[in-house]
Amino acid sequence: MSSAACIFCKIIKGDIPSFKLFESDKVFAFLDIQPLSRGHALVIPKFHGAKLTDIPDEDLTELLPVAKKIAQASGAVDFNILQNNGRIAHQEVDHVHFHMIPKPNEKEGMKIGWPTQATDMDKLKSLHEELKAKM
Ligand code: 5GP
Ligand code: ZN
Repeated sequence: MSSAACIFCKIIKGDIPSFKLFESDKVFAFLDIQPLSRGHALVIPKFHGAKLTDIPDEDLTELLPVAKKIAQASGAVDFNILQNNGRIAHQEVDHVHFHMIPKPNEKEGMKIGWPTQATDMDKLKSLHEELKAKM
C-alpha cells in the first residue's frame, strides 16, 4: 500500500532521490536529510501508514534488525531509536519511520525531555489490570 501524496512513498519509488542504505521487499532505509548527528538514518516500512498502529505486524518485523545494522555500520557507541506518532509527539512526516540517531556527545544527537510523574502504586496497579484485560 502506498500514498501518492506521501514524500516517503515517493522516496521508496525513487521519484524523490535519497541516500539509500538498505532495501528489501518490506523495508527501505536512508539517511535523514537534516541529521541530528553523523549517521542519523530513517528506517521505514514500504507499507504506507501514518502511525505504528496502522502497520500490519508482518510489515514491522524487519525494521529493528535494519536499524541495528545501520547503528553498527555507523560505528555509533551510543545512539537512540525513535519513532514518533502524531504531531504533538513530534511527528512531521505521516509515514511510519524509525530514527537511528547516534549520540556522539552532549551537543549532537537527540535531546530528550523526561518529565517524570510521581510513583503511585495504586494507579499503576489499576492501570496494569486495565491494560492486561485489553491485550
Ligand atoms: P519526524 O519528526 O516526523 O519523526 O521526522 C521526520 C524526519 O524526516 C526528519 O528528521 C526530517 O529531517 C526527515 N525528512 C523529511 N523530509 C525528508 C526528505 O525528503 N528526505 C530525507 N532523507 N529526509 C527527510
Ligand atoms: Zn507513505
